[in-house]
Amino acid sequence: MDKGLFMLNKIPRLTDDTIDSFKNMDFVDIANNVISKFIGNIISREKLQQIVNNALDFKIPIEKIANNDYICYLDRGPTCSFKDFGARMLARIMEHFLEIDNKNITILTATSGDTGSAVAQAFYKMSRIKVVVLYPKNEISDLQRKQMTTLGENIITLGIKGKFDDCQKLVKTAFADKELRHVNLSSANSINFGRLMPQTLYYFWSYSKIVDKKNEKVIFSVPSGNFGNLTGGLIAKKMGLPIEKFISAVNENNEFPAFLRTGVYTKVEPSINCISNAMNVGHPSNLARIFDLYGGQIDEKGIIHRIPNMEELRNDIVSYSISDEATKDEIVNFYNKYKRIIEPHGAVGWAALQIYRNSYPKNNDVKSITFETANPSKFPLEIIKLIDIVPEMPYSLLLIQDKPEFPNPKEINDYTDFKEFLLEKFQD
Ligand SMILES: *Cc1c(COP(=O)(O)O)cnc(C)c1O
Repeated sequence: MDKGLFMLNKIPRLTDDTIDSFKNMDFVDIANNVISKFIGNIISREKLQQIVNNALDFKIPIEKIANNDYICYLDRGPTCSFKDFGARMLARIMEHFLEIDNKNITILTATSGDTGSAVAQAFYKMSRIKVVVLYPKNEISDLQRKQMTTLGENIITLGIKGKFDDCQKLVKTAFADKELRHVNLSSANSINFGRLMPQTLYYFWSYSKIVDKKNEKVIFSVPSGNFGNLTGGLIAKKMGLPIEKFISAVNENNEFPAFLRTGVYTKVEPSINCISNAMNVGHPSNLARIFDLYGGQIDEKGIIHRIPNMEELRNDIVSYSISDEATKDEIVNFYNKYKRIIEPHGAVGWAALQIYRNSYPKNNDVKSITFETANPSKFPLEIIKLIDIVPEMPYSLLLIQDKPEFPNPKEINDYTDFKEFLLEKFQD
């Protein structure tokens, strides 16, 4: 069913003129141009248009904040995080191919919060796809949980006692279990190319909305955790988008900036809990993709088998680690200075941009775009504590607040419980 779509064999290139022509296009047209480069005519132009229209039917505002520094808001999808881009496109592309092949699958995924809710909402009511989401029941917010547990239908959610890593382990064990083959398990994790491809689109979009000249270069500051967002940007650059520099902004999980500096990779284990909680990743799975893009190889355990081209990597990316203290300071400063609310993930991105601006004043004329990856209303307690304002909640989140939740279907203590549950649910 993947038909090459989920592999990244060769990155297509767009001409300078094509990229230049994006400035007069709307988002759906840009998306069509970019995606069809990847998938050729595997999906017809009409069908693709329909998929993009339906998946990405929300606004992607870009706002000038200061001099040459812009923010692009990726938080206007139904679950109010940028994960809606990847999850919603992936869902519709998968459904399309399953329809053609007349097949059904089960998506099995573990979440620390944002991915599970985006995936659950994205696949909700898809007739050929069931979704099983595992989440650490004491470690996600009420709102994050409700985004998954209020759905029902084809969405099954399991709250697990333990941490995200425990959920992840159960998922991995199930994937390797031959006795579960008939369940037709598939993953929706962030290295899935169907999720990465749509994450190139907002780079093209935001770029084309702020530049004045053809081939003008831009700086992107990307709040990074599992590095799927940054990987989307790197692919956009390889496709021809003129990018001066990526700023990979991480929280206290600083394995990547340390690697860029020293060439030695050490995962952060266990990962450090920061208020930008969707970025609490001590060993990002998309590093494998990034290494690959730069001629290197790293395995799941974090062992480097081939060192990537460090010169090229350092030329394209700088990376800064922002402490929780500095993140909070940035939320306060940002509000005082611009009278706008920024949430913890975006604040990490904006704080990293300030470090870059101070370190490379010769690039002050180069415009920058920082991605705001979530909506402030998802972090009310933190924001109220810092600036004494209750962030306004978008309609899609308001709706969920009062919906009844489906109860946890089974107490899962170990893999045996989990497997039993899957076998009961998916008898053939
Ligand atoms: C997932 C997430 C990130 C990190 O994105 P990656 O692609 O994992 O690097 C940043 N901000 C928010 C709000 C997220 O949900």
